[in-house]
Amino acid sequence: MLVLKFGGTSVGSISNIVNVKNIINDGQKKVVVLSAMSGTTNTLVDISKYIQLGNIEEALLYIDALNEHYNKTVNELLYQSHLIEETNNYVNSIFNSLRAITKELHTELIHNIIVAQGELLSTFIFSRYLLQEDINAQLLPALDFMRIDKNCEPDNFYIKQNLNRILEHTKPSEIYVTQGFISLDAEGNISNLKRGGSDYTATIIGAVLKAKEVQIWTDIDGFHNNDPRFVENTKAISNLSFDESAELAYFGAKILHPQTVMPVRAFNIPVRLKNTMSPESYGTLITNKIHGEGIKAIAAKDSIIAIKIKSERMLQAHGFLKKVFEIFERHETAIDMITTSEVAVSLTIDDDKNLEPIINELEKIAKVEVDDYMSIVCLVGNSIIYHQDTPNLFQVLQDVTVRMISYGGSNNNISLLINTSDKLETLKKLHRYVFEGSKELAKLKADYALS
Ligand code: ADP
Ligand code: ASP
Ligand code: MG
Repeated sequence: MLVLKFGGTSVGSISNIVNVKNIINDGQKKVVVLSAMSGTTNTLVDISKYIQLGNIEEALLYIDALNEHYNKTVNELLYQSHLIEETNNYVNSIFNSLRAITKELHTELIHNIIVAQGELLSTFIFSRYLLQEDINAQLLPALDFMRIDKNCEPDNFYIKQNLNRILEHTKPSEIYVTQGFISLDAEGNISNLKRGGSDYTATIIGAVLKAKEVQIWTDIDGFHNNDPRFVENTKAISNLSFDESAELAYFGAKILHPQTVMPVRAFNIPVRLKNTMSPESYGTLITNKIHGEGIKAIAAKDSIIAIKIKSERMLQAHGFLKKVFEIFERHETAIDMITTSEVAVSLTIDDDKNLEPIINELEKIAKVEVDDYMSIVCLVGNSIIYHQDTPNLFQVLQDVTVRMISYGGSNNNISLLINTSDKLETLKKLHRYVFEGSKELAKLKADYALS
């Protein structure tokens, strides 16, 4: 069994939907996980916001526009009149339910119901398209088997039992289509795996079914060595290890949901990244094998908050860090980076939900300073901390204010905390030095020699 996940752009236009059909129609047994068509989840989030703000008129305008867009897509994609009718009826029923929701009190559950509609729409439309093309496929509703527990972790036992039961009772098929992103929560309410979560759905299913491989099909030819949205001349990396890709995804590489490789790593199930618009490109293969040494890729994560905790009493006081960590643990807030000195400890978090009570508690034991609008730039590669070129890296950063450095926490990662306003420049500079030869470094050295 294979698991193939197609992202928003891959199902976002008629020509790409045709590409997806051609890619999956190869006779191999597979589960196909689909995201919402590109832009849809963002629009649904906007609709939810307008309802929350009480601006129902605006919410309804967005609902009408999206409804019309979907009817147009259905009319262009399908030509069999009974399928057009059935599919448009489904589409209209979804949008009518959204119209009805605008009259309800806005809650987190209502929000989750609204944002779940994108994947329900894309999978229904795609399954009807496969029917029209005479391709044998079955639609598996993700809400019948995907569930997260109280800690928002996949409930693997439940997922395995239910998915296997459904597969046993569904007409055998070469292709099973299901929704990414959406799931039930521990109470059985509609929830999701957070933005970009369809990647995670694919690897959760891959692990449960012990798939031969999980493929993430997207709009770029694999995992690039830097963020192509901000840096020119980035290149696809052919091979990454689970550890390398997990670090990069966690530290901001948008191509993968942060938790994507977690479910499959333990079973050594490879993850292949492929381009729907260019299936012949090799893409990136993620396995437990390590290829090469030194810096392989750079990623950046925004919306980081740095907290400096200063206390004279820290000097020689054992147990101080324990008290600090307990405060974060009580407020279920993960710490990303940490550095210490004799009198202070600096750490970063990306979840500000409980920032206020955390600060209040910290202030009882120390002086606290908080900086926001920070970014973590993360450099990843096998044994990078031992690589001969790595120490030179810091020379490239002469004119960037680095607030914290994490070096040696693992052999494969160096993280820098900088102001978000310096992010673009830092990514570009690092790229030029690390991936475009040491020209930049030689120039820097020459400049310093002259000055
Ligand atoms: P999908 O909708 O298929 O899930 P995403 O938009 O979530 O696609 O992810 C693909 C996008 O991630 C790319 O188009 C690219 O702009 C962005 N991206 C950010 N960092 C990287 C990287 N290191 N390698 C490749 N793409 C990246
Ligand atoms: N549609 C969801 C989102 O936009 C999930 C995904 O694309 O993976 O976040
Ligand atoms: Mg994505």
